[in-house]
Amino acid sequence: MHPLDAADPLRGYRDRFVPGDGLVAYLDGNSLGRPLRASVERLERFAREEWGGRLIRGWDEGWLELPLALGDELGAHVLGAAPGQVAVADSTSVLIYKLARAAVDARPGRDEVLLDRGNFPSDRYLLEGIAAERGLTLRWLDPDPAGGVTPEAVADAVSERTALGLFSSVAYRSGFLADAPAITATLHDAGALAMWDLCHSAGVVPTSLDAWGVDLAVGCGYKYLNGGPGAPAFLYVRRELQGELRQPIHGWIGSRAPFEMGQGYEPADGIRSFLTGTPPIVAMQPLVDMLALLAEVGIDAVRAKSVALTEHAIRLVDGELPDARLASPRDPARRGGHVTIDHPRFAQLLPALWSAGIIPDFRRPDGLRLGCSPLSTSFAELEAGVAAIRDALAA
Ligand SMILES: *Cc1c(COP(=O)(O)O)cnc(C)c1O
Repeated sequence: MHPLDAADPLRGYRDRFVPGDGLVAYLDGNSLGRPLRASVERLERFAREEWGGRLIRGWDEGWLELPLALGDELGAHVLGAAPGQVAVADSTSVLIYKLARAAVDARPGRDEVLLDRGNFPSDRYLLEGIAAERGLTLRWLDPDPAGGVTPEAVADAVSERTALGLFSSVAYRSGFLADAPAITATLHDAGALAMWDLCHSAGVVPTSLDAWGVDLAVGCGYKYLNGGPGAPAFLYVRRELQGELRQPIHGWIGSRAPFEMGQGYEPADGIRSFLTGTPPIVAMQPLVDMLALLAEVGIDAVRAKSVALTEHAIRLVDGELPDARLASPRDPARRGGHVTIDHPRFAQLLPALWSAGIIPDFRRPDGLRLGCSPLSTSFAELEAGVAAIRDALAA
């Protein structure tokens, strides 16, 4: 066994995941987390006993409550949020629309939204659409592509015109970990609302939404939360804002009395008003297992291994891939769970790597992301992956 694996207190958790088909190194858990064996069993059991056995009665036996019950678990073990502020629903893209539209409408008289060119496409496209709908101006930050948004850059751009700032906690390309509490405070000092996209941090970087005073947040269920392809996303709305914000996609499940089927939409109280339609109960099942596992291990232990993995990845890149350019922060305090390296030949090498069971992912123009999922990635696997990339470059 690799000495770093031998010294890793979390190494045993890797066996809880389904073995991959012809897999040598899976370095893409930041794009699609691996399934837990427990989730395979849960999905089968759910189909047979709950869906098949209970049928429509299931809605009264827990399904209707599941979006908020899972939200509370996420709040407790992953997000640092007290109960009643998190719900599981929709996709991240749809939730960005709901929350950002509600936020800008709640700050009338303010006509600017702050965002950055390094954010994920959905975040940028959705804000472009909302700005067009609401006659707002987008104020763009243009951070270093190997870094990310700093409190100083936000302080320079924010003003009494800013309604909302939306940023990613961990940048999807560079892996830069933003100083979310400082940026949130900077936005608040100017009277703006602070919204965070946690897709690349939820489940791998400790987050304290309540303590940081964050107003709104969204994130993915299928990356470090291992919910499976297209798993529902989550949203967070700070309790004090829940009565004030009105999300724009009105459906029966977010209404005050869904089964009255009444005329005229009236929102439910609290976080439920941010739901829209029938919750995707089947797609939520794997999240139950991953949240239980994160509760068992603890997010601080997960982060400690994540830092050890990315530190090792950078050592390997420095030693074995001297021609590749590190496009992630060297400071572990400013880095999330993946490391990005650039080389002009990566695009060309990727198909052969994937066929050989070496699976990093590729981000334009020429970046490979080495995603390290602390509970399922071993140090030996990471080394095998980097060695294969070295050999492919040399061939
Ligand atoms: C993965 C990711 C998304 C994905 O949004 P979907 O609606 O699930 O496709 C959004 N934002 C960020 C920052 C991401 O990393």
